[in-house]
Amino acid sequence: MEYDVVVIGGGPGGYVAAIKASQLGLKTACVEFDEDSSGKVKLGGTCLNVGCIPSKSLLDSSYKFQQISESFDEHGIKVSKPSYDLTKMMQRKDEIVTKLTGGVAHLFKHNKVESIHGKGKLISANEVEVTKAKGKKEILKAKNIILATGSRPINIPSVPWNGTTVVGSSGALEFNKTPKKLAIIGAGVIGLELGSVWSRLGAHVDIYEAEKSLLPMLDDDISRLIDREFRKQNLNIHLGSFVKGSKKTRKGVSLEIEIDGKLNNVDYEKVIVAVGRRPFTENLLSESVNLSLDEKGFVPVNDFCQTSIDNVYAVGDIVRGPMLAHKAMEEGVMVAERIAGKRMEVNYDLVPSVIYTHPEIAWVGKTEKDLKEENIDYKKGSFPFSASGRALASGDSVGFVKMLADKETDEVLGVQIFGNSASEILQQGLIGMEFSASSEDFGLTMFSHPTVSEALHEAALAVNKQAIHIGN
Ligand code: FAD
Ligand code: NAD
Repeated sequence: MEYDVVVIGGGPGGYVAAIKASQLGLKTACVEFDEDSSGKVKLGGTCLNVGCIPSKSLLDSSYKFQQISESFDEHGIKVSKPSYDLTKMMQRKDEIVTKLTGGVAHLFKHNKVESIHGKGKLISANEVEVTKAKGKKEILKAKNIILATGSRPINIPSVPWNGTTVVGSSGALEFNKTPKKLAIIGAGVIGLELGSVWSRLGAHVDIYEAEKSLLPMLDDDISRLIDREFRKQNLNIHLGSFVKGSKKTRKGVSLEIEIDGKLNNVDYEKVIVAVGRRPFTENLLSESVNLSLDEKGFVPVNDFCQTSIDNVYAVGDIVRGPMLAHKAMEEGVMVAERIAGKRMEVNYDLVPSVIYTHPEIAWVGKTEKDLKEENIDYKKGSFPFSASGRALASGDSVGFVKMLADKETDEVLGVQIFGNSASEILQQGLIGMEFSASSEDFGLTMFSHPTVSEALHEAALAVNKQAIHIGN
C-alpha cells in the first residue's frame, strides 16, 4: 500500500501535520516509537509527555502553593500553615499528560490517521523503514514524507547525567522528594521554569549561567528587572559561571564552579542540566539517501520546510528556528497544506516566546537591540503594571509592557512583557502585528476595564506620548 504522506514522529510538529494532511484528504500514517509502560504507543512527543504540559502542571501547582503560603495574608485571608503532597501533585501532572496523549490518539482515529508503532528511518525519497517490536521491519511507501523527530537535551561532559542525582529536564519533572539543595546549570527557559517550581516547593536553588547577562535576547531594561525580581524569589542566579566538574558524594553531587576566575566546590542533593537541546536526528537518514544534516545535526530546509529532496519535508525542533511547540505545529500545518497543493506559509518574524515563571516573560518581534543593529528608526512606549488598577487589585503589579513601533509608519515591530498574564496579553499584540497594526490602531481599540491588558493599550498610547494613566 502507498500512502500520500508518512510522518516520522508524533510530537506537535508530526501529529499536527498528520491530522491536517488527513483532513485535506491525503492518506496519512504517523510513525512513533515512544511507548508507555504497557508497551502501547505514546503520542504527543516532548511537549505533551516531558515538556510544555507536565512543566506547566507543576508550575501551576507550585504557584498555588506559594500563593497560599505567602500572598493570601495580604488579601486578609487567614490559612493555617499549608503543606503539600508531592506524590499527589505528580499524579495530577501524570493524569493530565495521559489525558492529552490519549486525546491525540483519539484525534488520529477521528481523522483517520494510521498510527504506526515503531522507529522510522528514511531509506529512500519514497520509503520509510519502520523497526517494530522484536526488531521486525516493515517498509512504508509514500508520495511525501515529513520528518518530525524532535530534540533531546544537551549533555555536558563536566556534569554527565546519571539519572538520579544529575538529571535533565525530564528527570526534574519526576523528583519524588523536594531536594534541599538544587543546582541548575543554565538560566534559560527550562532553568528558570523548573527553578521556579522547586524553589516554590522549598528547595534552595542555585542557577549557574555561563552568559554574563540573564536572557540576553531581551532588552537590558527588561532582563535587569527580571534578574532583580527572580533573586527576590530565592532563585540565586550566578551569571558568568562555569561548572568545571562534578563528583558523586554520599548525599548527592559536589560541583566545581568557576565564578570570576575563582574555583568553588559546592555540594548539592540534585543537579539539573538545562543548557539547551539538540535535534534528534541520529539514525534517521539511511546512508543511501541523498540528504545530509548540517554540522549541528539539523535537517536543512527552505522557508517552506522542504528539504533538498522535493517530496521530503522536515518540521519542528529538527529544523532551524526556535524549539517551540507552536512553531512546530504551524510548520506541520504549512507542510500538509503545501503537499495538498495549497499556498501557505509561516510568518517566522512573528513567533512568540513565553517563559512561564511568575511573573511571566513574553515577547514577539523585534527588540530595541535588533532595531539598533538593523538601523531601523523606532519609537517606544511602556506602561508599568504598578499603574494598572487591575494589577494592583490582584496584588500582582510587578513588571511592564513595552511596545516598539516604526518611527515613520508607526507599525508595531515588537512587544516585550514582564508581568502577570504576559502570555495572554502578548497574544493580543501579536494578532495586531499579524495584521500590520500601528501603535495608533492599538490606541484606538477599546480595552475592557479593569483588565491587565489595558497595560498594552497604555503602552501603545505611550508610543505617541498620549498615555492617560502615566506621564508621557
Ligand atoms: P518532539 O515533541 O520532540 O516530538 C518528536 C517525536 O518524534 C517524539 O515523540 C519522539 O519519540 C519521536 N521520534 C523521534 N525519532 C523517531 C523515529 N526515528 N521514529 C519514530 N518516532 C520518532 N515549547 C513551547 O512552545 N512551550 C512550552 O511551554 C514548552 N515547554 C517545554 C518544557 C520542557 C521541559 C521542554 C523539554 C520543552 C518545552 N518546550 C516548550 C519545547 C517543545 O516541547 C518542543 O519545541 C516541541 O515538543 C517540538 O515538537 P516536535 O514535534 O518538533 O518534537
Ligand atoms: P535555553 O537555550 O533556553 O537555555 C540554556 C541556557 O544555558 C542559556 O542561557 C545558555 O547560555 C546556558 N548555558 C549553555 N551552556 C552552559 C554551560 N556549560 N554552563 C552554564 N550555562 C550554560 O535551553 P533550555 O532552557 O535547555 O531549553 C531548551 C529548549 O526548550 C529551548 O530552546 C526552549 O525553546 C524550549 N523550551 C521552551 C519553553 C517555553 O516555551 N516556555 C520551556 C522549556 C523549554
